[in-house]
Amino acid sequence: MIIAPVFYILAHIFFPINTSNAIVPKPVLNAPDNEIRYVYLSFDDGPLEGTSNCIDICLNQKVPATFFEVGRHQASTNRSKALYNRIMQNEAQFMIANHSYTHANSKYKYFYRHPTMAFDDFMQAQNSLAIKNNIIRLPGNSAWNTTAIKKASGLVKPVVHKLDSAGFNIIGWDVEWGFDKSGKPRQAPQFVVDMVDSAFARNHTATKNHLVILMHDHMFRASADSAKLVAMIGLLKSNPKYQLRKISQYPGLKNGGR
Ligand SMILES: [Zn+2]
Repeated sequence: MIIAPVFYILAHIFFPINTSNAIVPKPVLNAPDNEIRYVYLSFDDGPLEGTSNCIDICLNQKVPATFFEVGRHQASTNRSKALYNRIMQNEAQFMIANHSYTHANSKYKYFYRHPTMAFDDFMQAQNSLAIKNNIIRLPGNSAWNTTAIKKASGLVKPVVHKLDSAGFNIIGWDVEWGFDKSGKPRQAPQFVVDMVDSAFARNHTATKNHLVILMHDHMFRASADSAKLVAMIGLLKSNPKYQLRKISQYPGLKNGGR
């Protein structure tokens, strides 16, 4: 009569009965949703009007960003050299990558049909911008070339091949925040983040769970438009699954992006 309750109590201590409140690991129903998604902010064509706001906003928001710079823009004025130096001075948070010297003079077909000339243009930018990495973005073209991704149209393939042989990575973009004829952001911040969410959900990115956003510095030269950049970054930061990074942390870069 006594043994049974003692055994019952001991059994409960060492082998607790599963009641509805017991701690049982819940089955993970949506495993991919727990994965971190990496977002890379990139600003093209600077230093230009608007670059200063992009720098200030990313510093204030404490978010990393990559500036794909145009050699000729940097060399043009003391002000643009100062902007370039401000990016360089915040190397922990920012990086500068090669976006050509002339930006193809905006004559893309001519530029890419002369691959030796185009290659030399990138090398001129590499030298004049004193770039320390091997990451390039083609002007006016979202080609990709890393150890893992090979995406290039017939037009740009010859210069991509030359840059590849010289050890460079080519980075395109997954989502573009476009601008209208007056250079202002075309979409609202929420719309841009909806595009990001959708690209991740549909796996419409060059690398699964990694997404590069293309923006242009000049879009954010007015304070009302700068506020849109702040809002867009705020929306990205509010998603606990999203982590922001510099392009140097993109997976599969040749020689680790150096
Ligand atoms: Zn560009």
